[in-house]
Amino acid sequence: MRVCSLASSSKGNCNILYTDTSILVVDMGITLKELEEKFYRLGLDPCNIAGVIVSHEHSDHTKGLKSLVNKYSTPIYCHSNAVDGVVNKTGVLPSKIIRFGDAPFMVGPYMVDPFRVSHDVFCVGFNIFIEKNKISIVTDLGYTTNDIVMRLWNSRLVIIEANHDEQMVISGRYPPVLKARILGDKGHLSNINCAKVLLNLAQHRVKQVLLAHLSEENNTPDVCYNTIYNYLHANGIEPGVHIKIDIAKPHGVGPIFVLN
Ligand SMILES: [Zn+2]
Ligand SMILES: [Zn+2]
Repeated sequence: MRVCSLASSSKGNCNILYTDTSILVVDMGITLKELEEKFYRLGLDPCNIAGVIVSHEHSDHTKGLKSLVNKYSTPIYCHSNAVDGVVNKTGVLPSKIIRFGDAPFMVGPYMVDPFRVSHDVFCVGFNIFIEKNKISIVTDLGYTTNDIVMRLWNSRLVIIEANHDEQMVISGRYPPVLKARILGDKGHLSNINCAKVLLNLAQHRVKQVLLAHLSEENNTPDVCYNTIYNYLHANGIEPGVHIKIDIAKPHGVGPIFVLN
């Protein structure tokens, strides 16, 4: 099976997991046209989407939901606490949404186990189990708890937010209220806080990470990677040796991870 990021930034987020017969979409923060173009390049057919699981209502995670369900009748799965927000933001009919709670559920062959994270609207991360692989995806969270970090242990691949450099936010051009939101407990995970999580993950059998949802305003791939590299290196973990770290493209496809 394969895992691929189709977009990853504050403007749009979409990840896919796919086997020969079934595709799981995690967040639909790109337009349907963009999804169709990217699927075509990957040799995938949107008709084979088993379902879309939605982390939360923000448009960078839900932008293309309505067009997708209207054209392909794709099943949409939302936590029951997030349904109202998603309906209001997207115009998707409530009857088109399959509600899940805090327990694991199946989407085709994929077992999805959601867990709550702290964000300014109701939001979840996901453990996904398929063909003996565990893949974890967690973005849009102000901070991590021990419980959240433990949820990521033993994953073959962790897709995790490294949203911003704290100093770039502080000295940047955003208004104070927005700066406070980003840096607050219900905002986004900073590079250094992501690095602290990765140190723990490297000590718990995680060997592959994809850094996601980098801010295009308050981060750069170099700043992000260097912050994380330096923190891990100072703590005895060598990126590329103990843990492989890639950065998702903000608007492009890839990298593609092949998991057996
Ligand atoms: Zn987001
Ligand atoms: Zn968000």
